[in-house]
Amino acid sequence: MPKAELHCHFVSVMRPERLLQLAAKNGVALKSDSVDTLLDFDNLVDFLDVFNAAHEVLVAPDDFATVAYEGVRDAVEVGSLKYREYFVNPLNFRARGLSYGFVMDSIADGLAQAKADFGVGFGLIAAVNRAHGPESAVDLVAEVAANPRDYVLGIGLDDLTAEGEEAPLRFAEAYELAGRHGLKRTAHVGETMAASPQNVVDAIQTLKVDRIDHGYRVVDDAAALAVAQGSGIPFACTPVSTRVLSAWPFDPSHRIARMIAAGLPVTLSTDDAVFFRTDIATEYRDALPPMGLAAGDAKRLARASFEAAWCDDAEKARYLAQVDAAFLALDHLLDPEARS
Ligand SMILES: [Zn+2]
Repeated sequence: MPKAELHCHFVSVMRPERLLQLAAKNGVALKSDSVDTLLDFDNLVDFLDVFNAAHEVLVAPDDFATVAYEGVRDAVEVGSLKYREYFVNPLNFRARGLSYGFVMDSIADGLAQAKADFGVGFGLIAAVNRAHGPESAVDLVAEVAANPRDYVLGIGLDDLTAEGEEAPLRFAEAYELAGRHGLKRTAHVGETMAASPQNVVDAIQTLKVDRIDHGYRVVDDAAALAVAQGSGIPFACTPVSTRVLSAWPFDPSHRIARMIAAGLPVTLSTDDAVFFRTDIATEYRDALPPMGLAAGDAKRLARASFEAAWCDDAEKARYLAQVDAAFLALDHLLDPEARS
């Protein structure tokens, strides 16, 4: 089943072996030189340690391009990936002196090669790291607008503020600026029990987002849910990460299942594939059946992942045609007698 992935942090497509190799090459100390120990964490703080280390090991243009290329190849092999949008936090690389253009172009080089070899489309999303504060967010958006690239489609908002909050309204100025420059907008909100359903409403009404990342808490408040339903805005949900970071079991009461039941346009992604030991196929296969969702739901979610993509209309139409053709073949495989 062809799939698009809309919520994927770039460094998280890095193979663990590549992380170790690049750390050795570029002189970065890791907490362990064993893949298993490195990825053995059960809380956000330990996760962020290794996530930050994964930024530090990327130095040369080829480091970025190799990771980008391998990440596509892996997802094609295991998950029939056709298109992916990546969050890149440019400021996470700035401590090492790497510029916005250098980072984005190096990643795009690898992804363009992968597109040529595997036919997988891509876009980049410049992500605001909340920890750097609202002023830095405005500066970043201004830099994105001043250095346009046709493959940089919009902005995102991830991590937490220094106080450990989502606080979307603090970033309103950056989002307004992005809108004025015609950039698409998404934001991580309503992710954990520490976040409020109101954060989803604020992202929709004040940040004027085109998409929401996570957003699970929206089903915990009827008024917030009504706003989301009225907006038609798609959600990029990441099931495995909710199990790792929030310990939410996959059952029919899972918030993603309730979002789907409420008619919200839900799509599935990996978030941080390598660190959560997942991939795009695993997200569908592990999460949907125990949530009480069947093959028809999986097909709807896969189709929705392309509909919610930020590529241009012609590219989107090509993917949707591929999806529909694949579904016809799949239906025939499952039931050769049926004619539709
Ligand atoms: Zn994320």
